[in-house]
Amino acid sequence: MRGDKGVTAEAVKCYLCPKGASQEETRDNMGSIEVRCPECGLYRITDIAMQFYILAGDPDDRFEDLLDGEDKRKLAGYIRAKHERDKDAPVLLDARTIEEVTGKLSPYATSV
Ligand SMILES: [Zn+2]
Repeated sequence: MRGDKGVTAEAVKCYLCPKGASQEETRDNMGSIEVRCPECGLYRITDIAMQFYILAGDPDDRFEDLLDGEDKRKLAGYIRAKHERDKDAPVLLDARTIEEVTGKLSPYATSV
């Protein structure tokens, strides 16, 4: 719990692997957050795609195990493959991309 808000880099766990990462809020129109992980690289998760992760982290929620370890490895591999073509561009993980890569459907079946 920190009081400061806004665009700050915070030490957080990577969403896709056990390594450390830093996280920044970005100000695009999807409310994305940007994550830099030494292992997975630079990626951006949209607000809607975060439902996969936020709900996954809530032990009281029925979507608890929506993305398992193998799904996360698939997503990390997807990011690495993208970075081979363009190393500096953040890889966008929106709900559709997560669905395509993991085969899991978004909790709210959104189209973004
Ligand atoms: Zn990572």
